[in-house]
Amino acid sequence: MPRIAEHCAPGGWRHAGDPYTPTCAWPDDCFVQWGGNGVVLSASKGTYRTAFFEAFPTDPATFIRGEGATVAEAEAQAFAAFERHRACPGHEFERRGYTNGAGFCKHCGLFASKAFEPTTLCHVCQAPTNHSCGQATDPESGERRTFWYCEAHAHLRRGNGHANALDRWLVEDEKEQPPGTPAQQGVESEGGLTD
Ligand SMILES: [Zn+2]
Ligand SMILES: [Zn+2]
Repeated sequence: MPRIAEHCAPGGWRHAGDPYTPTCAWPDDCFVQWGGNGVVLSASKGTYRTAFFEAFPTDPATFIRGEGATVAEAEAQAFAAFERHRACPGHEFERRGYTNGAGFCKHCGLFASKAFEPTTLCHVCQAPTNHSCGQATDPESGERRTFWYCEAHAHLRRGNGHANALDRWLVEDEKEQPPGTPAQQGVESEGGLTD
C-alpha cells in the first residue's frame, strides 16, 4: 500500500467528500494523492469530468500524473507510466526545452528533476544554477532578461536591483583562492609566488 496523502486518506476532507482507495500495486514508499472527479464547465469543451492521480515513487525518483474521467482511470494511466519507467532498459535523458536541469528519458518518458545541470548560470559566479532569479533590464544590452543567482550569491540580489560589477569583481577575487583555504593564507601563498 502506498503512502496516501492525509487529505485523501480516511478521515481527510477529500476522502469524506469522495472516498477512493488506490487499486494499483504502488510500492510502500510511494507517496500518492488524487483529486478532481468533478464536473467542469467549459465554454469550448462543454461539460466534462476530469480527475487526476499523482504519484511520487522513489525508484525511480520521479513525479507521475495521470488524468482521466475518473480517479480510477487517472490512477491506471499513472501506473502504466510507472511500469513503463521500470521496464526501461536504460534511461537516456534529454532536456526538451527545460533550462532548470530537468530531463525526460527518450525511451520511457521518465521525468527526472535533476537529470542535468541547469543551463542558466549565476549572474555572479557563472555556476549553473536555478536557485533564484529576477527580471530586470540589462544595463549592457538594454533588454529585459532574467538574472540568476546561486544559493551562495542570492543575497547579492536586492529587490529589483542586481549585483553590479563591483560585487561581481569581489566574488571573482574570492574564487581565486583554492577551495577551503582561509583568506589570510590565500594572500600569503600568492605573495610567495610573486617572489
Ligand atoms: Zn527510460
Ligand atoms: Zn554564484
